[in-house]
Amino acid sequence: MIYFDYTATTKPKKELLELHTRINTEYWCNTEGMYIDGVKAHALLDKSSRVITDTLKLKNKKVLFTSGATEANNTAIYGVTSSYYNQPKHIITTYLEHASVLNVYKDLEKRGFKVTYLIPNKDGIIDINELENSITNETVLISIMWVNNIIGTIQPINKVIEIVKKHPRVKLHVDAVQGFGKLDADFNFNDIDLLTLSGHKLEGLKGTGLLIYNDKLHLSFIKGGHQQDGVRPGTVDLAGCVVMAKTIQLAANNINEKFQDVLKKYNYLVTNLENINDIILNTSKYSSPYILSITFKNIKGETALHTLEKNNILVGTGSACNSHSKDQEKTLIYTLDDETLAVNTIRISLSTYTTYEELDLLIDNIKKI
Ligand code: PMP
Repeated sequence: MIYFDYTATTKPKKELLELHTRINTEYWCNTEGMYIDGVKAHALLDKSSRVITDTLKLKNKKVLFTSGATEANNTAIYGVTSSYYNQPKHIITTYLEHASVLNVYKDLEKRGFKVTYLIPNKDGIIDINELENSITNETVLISIMWVNNIIGTIQPINKVIEIVKKHPRVKLHVDAVQGFGKLDADFNFNDIDLLTLSGHKLEGLKGTGLLIYNDKLHLSFIKGGHQQDGVRPGTVDLAGCVVMAKTIQLAANNINEKFQDVLKKYNYLVTNLENINDIILNTSKYSSPYILSITFKNIKGETALHTLEKNNILVGTGSACNSHSKDQEKTLIYTLDDETLAVNTIRISLSTYTTYEELDLLIDNIKKI
């Protein structure tokens, strides 16, 4: 299998699978148990949180272990807005967001919240002035992702932070799923009120994710017992938490070396594809080298995907989470400014594991298509 869909998911690292089994074997007691084995399990949970806050150099933050980024995004947005259900306020997001953000904003709009959806420009990024002008006295939450999962554009989070800092009432939520472990952040994670991460995009396990939030925030979403400060009640999956902490620690290593390696591969791919007349490379100076979006002028992305698959080459189309939905990706519609071209698009995602041999095969096969 020649894999170019690292944005959808990654193969779990063997050491993380082994760690998962070990923790489930040795620390299977309930973290809330008052006997010594429960106390030990709880201590390991606390240590996992500390590993994450130390790795990201965080102060005054709480770590919420979730089943993934979808749940983290839902918890962040519903968690902040639920206290305004009786007097809905104004919230801001972008058409670049993943469905687990965009669909929550649409739901809140139905419940009476006033929503501003920022539209990406042709380069696939938001207009920072438009963001600034959209904020009103009623604004309580802004959700803007770091790296888009369809076209890979990097949003100017450092500038977003500068703006949001002028409005202390406004909380900033950043979905960092496709940025963390891949790009060196040019902003401080401490300046983000709610930060979403996913384990399975970082060679961790499916079903692991994080919401890191300001310790002064009172989030309310699902109801139950007092586990994880009552924000995510239910018996804690300690093995998942320990593995998530290790995943973050490993992903934070050598970000620059990994980036330079992937950048070379990305440039090689772009150089070899840019002269083909029948395709459009959806790149701009704001693109992450981990994702290359390609639009075919005359065939559907799904057809291209299956043609490549016949030769054992796996790519994505839009977002894996939306691939069985009839909803078209808003991100592509806005950046391509054409609904037909939006469906003619595939997504190639790269990794340090990608070889030049694999890239040559991909290039040859795209040329044939
Ligand atoms: N946000 C982004 C930017 C993503 O790429 C994804 C996964 N496609 C998600 C959220 C959802 O992540 P998870 O699968 O962990 O729920």
